[in-house]
Amino acid sequence: MSRDILPLSAAALATAPVPLIDLVEQFEEIGDEVRSAVDRVLSTQKFILGDDVADFENQVATFCDSRHAIGCASGTDALVLALMALDIGPGDEVITTPYTFFATASCIHRVGATPVFVDIDPATFNLDPAAVDAAVTSRTRAIMPVHLFGQCADMDPLWRTAVRNGLPIIEDAAQAIGSTYGGRQAGVLGTMCCFSFFPTKNLGGAGDGGMVTTDDPELAARLKRLRVHGDVGRYEHVEVGLNSRLDALQAAILSVKLRRLSDWTTGRQMNAARYQKLFEATGVSEHLVFPATHPACGHSYNQFVVRIEDGRRDDVLKSLQAQQIGCAVYYPKPLHLQKCFEHLGCKPGQFPEAERASAESLALPIYAELGAIRQERVVRGLAHALDVEQAAPIISLPARKAA
Ligand SMILES: *Cc1c(COP(=O)(O)O)cnc(C)c1O
Repeated sequence: MSRDILPLSAAALATAPVPLIDLVEQFEEIGDEVRSAVDRVLSTQKFILGDDVADFENQVATFCDSRHAIGCASGTDALVLALMALDIGPGDEVITTPYTFFATASCIHRVGATPVFVDIDPATFNLDPAAVDAAVTSRTRAIMPVHLFGQCADMDPLWRTAVRNGLPIIEDAAQAIGSTYGGRQAGVLGTMCCFSFFPTKNLGGAGDGGMVTTDDPELAARLKRLRVHGDVGRYEHVEVGLNSRLDALQAAILSVKLRRLSDWTTGRQMNAARYQKLFEATGVSEHLVFPATHPACGHSYNQFVVRIEDGRRDDVLKSLQAQQIGCAVYYPKPLHLQKCFEHLGCKPGQFPEAERASAESLALPIYAELGAIRQERVVRGLAHALDVEQAAPIISLPARKAA
């Protein structure tokens, strides 16, 4: 395999900057296959829908054991299309979390409905099912749980609320392809499920892309026409839809990557397990909260998010940045406090767990290619940032790849 740069020696790697995510290393592994997939699409000059998109839709449907999969232009559009397919609009309420990426709530707003925020479970950062249950009104039309950071929301109690009130569930699984709940994949846990193929998601394209999965044939048919202007063929428009398709080029690239997704997810899970060992070996574990996994969940670690309590998070963030260790805050301001949602009348303090999570969370590098040496550097950096006397020297693990 050709490499533009020589791999770093173990010693150099131990001091080099560690990015929060590095997609270049992943691309080195699959570059030849991706290039030939792109070439093949270019040689057909068929860019809109067609076989590449249909094949990839079938592969995703098979991957998550869903009956239907409908590609679209982004995860954001997947959410909009799902809401449109349920005729959700003005006067309707959709219950969701304030601790998520902006698109979750903006899509509800964009179809004219009202996002109704409820607080999260501090252990998992996901919707608190009891709070969802308490928020149902006569105007509630759907529940939209987010499988945040790659961990599924607690679907069993959410479904009890949904069934009792006759409500559909739209999964926001933008961060959770490959995650499981009760042994089933994200993608078949709701009435519809929305995925994103934004480059930094666990299955990321070379640009934007998204997909909706569902077992319901009528919703699937509606989603298929909503993504092409409500066209049922020959310029017959039975309703007004969007122009929102997954590009054939993206589908071809994503097909190559989907074959590796399970390996990459395992790599992320192994890195999380290694963090746990390294945190314990260094005493760092006493100064932060390791991300908890709900017993029903298989976590895919789109993000590895620890909590740093006692108001120390921002200092740790600054120290890691100064040490050139990639880290980020997801999300610094919960959605109920965003200016654009002022009209909802939410107040600071209304969702204390979401607000505390915003103040305490810190994402650390977790990508599959990270490797032991860089992980040790992250943990040494954390120990330094947290003023931890290293109880024991870090066991030096062998490099993942020989140079
Ligand atoms: C990324 C993301 C989206 C939006 O996906 P795009 O493909 O970027 O439009 C929606 N919800 C969550 C939780 C996300 O992380």
